[in-house]
Amino acid sequence: MPANAAENPSVRYDVVVVGGGNAAFSAAHAARERGASVLVLEKGEEKEAGGNSYYTAGAFRLAHGGLDDLRSLLQDPDDPRLDRTRLPAYTADDFAADMDRVTGGNNDPRMTRVLVDDSADTIRWLTSKGLRWELLYQRQTYLDEGEWVFFGGLALGSEGGGKGLVAQHTDAARASGTEIRYGAEVVDLRRDGSAVTGVVVRDSDGTVEHIGAGAVVLAAGGFESSERMRRLHLGEGWERAIVRGTPLNTGEVLELAIGHGAAAHGDWSSCHSVQWDAGAPARGGDRELTNQLTRQSYPVGIVVNREGARFVDEGADFRNFTYAKYGREVLRQPGGVAFQLFDATTRPLLRTLEYDSTPITGEQADTLDELAERLGIDPDGLSRTVAEFNGSISGGDFNPAVKDGRAARVVPPKSHWASALEQPPFYGYAVACGITFTFGGLRIDPATAAVLDGDGVPVPGLHAAGEIVGGLFSGNYPGGSGLIAGSVFGRRAGAVAAG
Ligand SMILES: Cc1cc2nc3c(=O)[nH]c(=O)nc-3n(C[C@H](O)[C@H](O)[C@H](O)COP(=O)(O)OP(=O)(O)OC[C@H]3O[C@@H](n4cnc5c(N)ncnc54)[C@H](O)[C@@H]3O)c2cc1C
Repeated sequence: MPANAAENPSVRYDVVVVGGGNAAFSAAHAARERGASVLVLEKGEEKEAGGNSYYTAGAFRLAHGGLDDLRSLLQDPDDPRLDRTRLPAYTADDFAADMDRVTGGNNDPRMTRVLVDDSADTIRWLTSKGLRWELLYQRQTYLDEGEWVFFGGLALGSEGGGKGLVAQHTDAARASGTEIRYGAEVVDLRRDGSAVTGVVVRDSDGTVEHIGAGAVVLAAGGFESSERMRRLHLGEGWERAIVRGTPLNTGEVLELAIGHGAAAHGDWSSCHSVQWDAGAPARGGDRELTNQLTRQSYPVGIVVNREGARFVDEGADFRNFTYAKYGREVLRQPGGVAFQLFDATTRPLLRTLEYDSTPITGEQADTLDELAERLGIDPDGLSRTVAEFNGSISGGDFNPAVKDGRAARVVPPKSHWASALEQPPFYGYAVACGITFTFGGLRIDPATAAVLDGDGVPVPGLHAAGEIVGGLFSGNYPGGSGLIAGSVFGRRAGAVAAG
């Protein structure tokens, strides 16, 4: 503990929440509705606050009964597109099966059950707090015979994406009487025996203060923004990944909790990482463009490295189930860079928010040779790859709204949505590995979100939620699960912490 932090707390709250993202606010709302006095301590100044939650697309995965079920949640239930929308039900068991499948069964089963079973009710609860929802037409549909078809089990998003989400959470917190302190970095926990009784916080002017708490909820994110911790836990080369979100999730709260006896849990050696504009700022996201720097329409194209070689099955599954593991595949390529290629046939299918966004690191050309030259790809390698790819396509009709079985039978294969790259002009977008968040974290009791020690015993007065918690994800992740996980366990943490 810093030497100048007073022994006695200067002030005391029933619940102190560390962090100011989606998990933190979910905990704060739950504690406040039980009458607790609540203080949120956020390291960033107000203009840089909101954590990774601010940078998100605001996509929340939940179990639901289909379009009619979700319609009641929407800010605009009369959107004319709704009558031409196919949005199948997605059950809690579907959600659990997706978690098991994409993590290779390395997900904590008890945490997963709580996550999927609480997901729908948590969204309704957030709605009651003032959060607003829309359907993710731009990201999660393809048009099929005049109908909007949702794919990948993900449909609901916060109005205004991550920026809207953080603004709505902040408004809700303030309206309910939660206090928020910005520029407040938690540097230690205070304990009485094994029980956590407060935190030590350093303000932006350097003042160090001891704040007492009936209970503390840790929601300070993962360690993806620390080069040191990335290299230590994810391995050599990860220091070169581009940070997609906040530069402030540097893992110190995670380390200090472990230093106070909290147990680690989950997969510390893998993370969520995606194909991200190669020209994006390296040490933290762009607060204006936020998630627009992502490049996620690769399932309708091909991805090659500098040598012109393909290295992943772009059509292995719907984007939602592959995108979070393909960043690391890009990191492994020469120079840590790759190129997504499309032609005049597939270009209109790309997500406009991402590929019509400016600036963008990409080129357009009338021949593949010219495109290769402009992007720095070996033209002979590319020409061989494309000839082999184009010549190997067979199967059903191309339809990006379903798993169409139209495959390129090459190595690696492209299992769905194979379309010959042959109609000029050709388009190429340079991507690097963008790290989103880390999967390793603290061990919690899924029922109470209490932080557990090495013997599996709750540390009195200590709870955690969001990406600071480990156990749910490993190697890969079903899109839209991070925000809902933060809300489900944040709500439980806040409720139990309030006593
Ligand atoms: C570009 C991008 C897009 C994404 N899109 C989606 C999506 O659409 N859907 C989805 O489910 N997930 C998405 N994610 C993942 C999602 O951001 C996370 O799952 C979620 O936001 C984590 O919430 P959190 O509250 O745990 O952490 P955060 O929102 O990161 O909040 C952690 C907070 O803790 C603060 N903090 C850190 N250290 C300290 C300290 N010492 N003292 C005080 N405060 C501290 C940080 O400043 C930060 O504000 C995306 C992530 C990124 C980067």
